[in-house]
Amino acid sequence: MDVAVQAASKALPSWKGLTMKSRAAMMLKFHGLVESHKHELAKLIVMENGKNYTEALADVAKGNETVEYACSLPQMAQGKILEVSRGVMCQDKRVPLGVVACIVPFNFPFMVPMWTVPIALVMGNCIVLKPSEKVPLTMYRVAELMIEAGFPKGVFNMVNGSVEAVNALIDHKEVRAVTFVGSSPVAKIVSSRCQALNKRCTALGGAKNHLIALPDCEVESAARDIVVSFAGCSGQRCMAASVLLLVGGEKQDKLLDIVMKKAAALKAGTDAGCMGPVIDKNSSKKILSYIADAEKGGATILLDGRRWMESHEGKGGEWIGPTIIKHNSRFDKAVKDEIFGPVLSVVSVQSWDEAIDIENSNPFGNAACIYTSNGGHAEWFTSRFRASMLGVNIGIPVPREPFSFGGLYGTYSKYGDQDITGDGAIEFFSNRIKISTRWPSPQTDEFRANNVVDASMNGCNGHTVTDHANFNGRI
Ligand code: NAD
Repeated sequence: MDVAVQAASKALPSWKGLTMKSRAAMMLKFHGLVESHKHELAKLIVMENGKNYTEALADVAKGNETVEYACSLPQMAQGKILEVSRGVMCQDKRVPLGVVACIVPFNFPFMVPMWTVPIALVMGNCIVLKPSEKVPLTMYRVAELMIEAGFPKGVFNMVNGSVEAVNALIDHKEVRAVTFVGSSPVAKIVSSRCQALNKRCTALGGAKNHLIALPDCEVESAARDIVVSFAGCSGQRCMAASVLLLVGGEKQDKLLDIVMKKAAALKAGTDAGCMGPVIDKNSSKKILSYIADAEKGGATILLDGRRWMESHEGKGGEWIGPTIIKHNSRFDKAVKDEIFGPVLSVVSVQSWDEAIDIENSNPFGNAACIYTSNGGHAEWFTSRFRASMLGVNIGIPVPREPFSFGGLYGTYSKYGDQDITGDGAIEFFSNRIKISTRWPSPQTDEFRANNVVDASMNGCNGHTVTDHANFNGRI
């Protein structure tokens, strides 16, 4: 870690000395390389993460959108300038922070690192990235592409490791800021450690995302969207649906029936359209324990993903199929905790107030969605949800660039300030230096007495020269 940070520190002066346009030009070259290597990168993602091929390609495409955004920073990241009192200009100049450490999770091996790396680099910082120890391959290949794009030695560095590596990075005196994306308990640890050292930190944590379906929703498209949201990427998405609140009780049977049929039709596998395994044994153990607890507590397992575990026994991989649990109590553990697997908890509620109360009282604040055909109904919910990334008929409401990504500060979903992409990232990855300037005015008596002025300019450009005698012999 020390070698990587030293390399970044050494590269920093000349990197930040380049214009933002020159840095963006290199990023543009990298963007092209990612595009031309997208299939190779997608195969690595399938191999190490277990996503299906379509999801892996989307991981690369969405990550490259942030690279594209970073290429346009020269048009967007300029500071402000204003005449704050007569003759006094105040300029707000953005300067890089220095060496930044980026710590990322396993679930999007390309996209999540790309939330931070391109913006931080174009803003003039140097980086040490620590990928998840569960998916070290994709970013290794990406690092090779960065070299090919022409990034100078030391500007981007990558080191694998886990807890010790993270602590060493945070504590390194030359690391000025830390970005973290991962689970809530670790986000909290990372954020507190940075706070104690007075380092800038944004730490995105876990999620428990609620979807609310009103009786007036368009049933077929809502059902399709709900399945994609809870079972896509095997439920290992911080934006995945986790709780479905059906308002209107019995009227919602049809919606639930279609959701069940679509989910039951999913096949195990990593080909396009299939559903891959979850990341590892710890993860499958955790998911299975939530299903078992819910069953023991009286919930009904409407669709049981454990059957995949049984049919794949001994074949490698942690295969948990889509699981739908119908709860009698909103207080079941599976309704409250982040499970991070393809499990949908369904709770029937009688009123809008009850639905919003369940969403508001969960300690996370990442995403939520309302399914309805009525704009007024949608407005009622979007102005009351606790989460900060909201969908109307969109179950994975990721705010794409230039909008910024991040859960609500002060919940389990976000520690530290600023969002991680978009405007929030421009703010996070730069310091604002304020320069106040006043130049002596050319109209003062002293100036007029001591400066040579071309007589032909008399009366022009604001120079009113009244005493021609002053210019004798000096023109
Ligand atoms: P994780 O918290 O286990 O690991 C994330 C990173 O932290 C990894 O690089 C890991 O090496 C490191 N780490 C693990 N334990 C640590 C410790 N004790 N001290 C310091 N560093 C440590 O998360 P994960 O399992 O890789 O990813 C899944 C989690 O990430 C889920 O909770 C998911 O919701 C969350 N996530 C959140 C977002 C978001 O934008 N909010 C996006 C993606 C994933």
